[in-house]
Amino acid sequence: MSKILSNTELANIADEFGTPLYVYDADKIKEQYNKLTTAFKNTDTVFFYACKALTNINILQYIKSLGANVDCSSINEVKLALHAGFSPERILYTSNGIAFSEIEEAKDLGVIINIDSLSNLEKFGKKYGHSYPVGIRLRPNIMAGGHLKISTGHAKSKFGIPVDQADKIISLVEKYNIHINDLHIHTGSEIEDVDVFVKGIEVLFDIIPKFKELEVIDLGGGFKVPYKKGDTETDINLLAQKVNELFASHPNPGGKHLQVWFEPGKFLVSECGYFITKVNVIKESGDTTFAGVDSGFNHLIRPMFYDAYHRIENISNPNGEEKIYSVVGNICETDTFAWDRKLNEVREGDYLVFYNAGAYGFQMSSNYNSRLKPAEVLVENGKAKLIRQRDVFEDLLKNQVI
Ligand code: PLP
Repeated sequence: MSKILSNTELANIADEFGTPLYVYDADKIKEQYNKLTTAFKNTDTVFFYACKALTNINILQYIKSLGANVDCSSINEVKLALHAGFSPERILYTSNGIAFSEIEEAKDLGVIINIDSLSNLEKFGKKYGHSYPVGIRLRPNIMAGGHLKISTGHAKSKFGIPVDQADKIISLVEKYNIHINDLHIHTGSEIEDVDVFVKGIEVLFDIIPKFKELEVIDLGGGFKVPYKKGDTETDINLLAQKVNELFASHPNPGGKHLQVWFEPGKFLVSECGYFITKVNVIKESGDTTFAGVDSGFNHLIRPMFYDAYHRIENISNPNGEEKIYSVVGNICETDTFAWDRKLNEVREGDYLVFYNAGAYGFQMSSNYNSRLKPAEVLVENGKAKLIRQRDVFEDLLKNQVI
């Protein structure tokens, strides 16, 4: 939970660009990427940034400059990654529940594809046979992740082809001579326990011998980051050590070397992000004091969607007396960011900063209540640069047929 941008820097940026405002610190992204590459320096590993977390082109370009590849969850993310300058072989499209036409489009763009249903695998086999190497997204039937809504590998999850249907996969692969070069799993998000990854690898090792042309195992994303003071993150060094031990003790039966891929989203961009809001209203009500900010779940939905905790600080009054507040938004539903939160005395006009706001923050924002989406700023080499304009009223009318 390192805090790189100071209160003064954040307040100055908010004064310059207005609120509500997303601010990203490039140095923090680099620090996180370096943690990964350092831990895995002795393993043949490639990191694909799961760009669903934050797709601003400037962020994509920055992450590309660090040397990472990119993982996409829609054909439009693939196109954004191409637009940001990633070459097709550095782009992975891990699909889920998509129309086959998107897979055809991804193939025509020349990117790497993970297929997640038997039906799309069959269509792929019929159309392309052995001509285009492809990966399979498996569901390992492992329950993991910080909240049910971000658990993706359990036995009732919609994601991936259930690993117990391996026989059906094999018959399709044999029938159409499909070139399977990658097996993929992603068990969930905010996984602190390294043994979850170990379990996943063990599930894969059971079926690896069935795929003679395999070159890669892709273990998805899901590394946890600290949210609260004293919180810990996934121990990446321990993970690297366990991955190496597993490969040493389960050599690939074909004797072939396998590369390991990861798809970190949150780990790379959560902590780089600060969401700065301004307090519109202080409202006393019985034993609750509401601090109402100039935002809502239309800008940061994680607390309401899956009970995510975001640390909040009053950077305008950091030495004020501590009091208890409910921090709420201005949307016409209950959009409470934090109940009973201890904050330095909050006054109307103060800036409240939400930490860990880089991942799934702006990216999940909307125009609900016909409110405008916030601006985004990237701080790089000590300079704050606007990387997305705040919406203007005309944006609300842009696609309406009048
Ligand atoms: N890979 C896949 C297939 C995903 O679905 C996700 C998240 O939904 C990720 C990677 C990134 O997860 P995280 O941001 O927790 O690292």
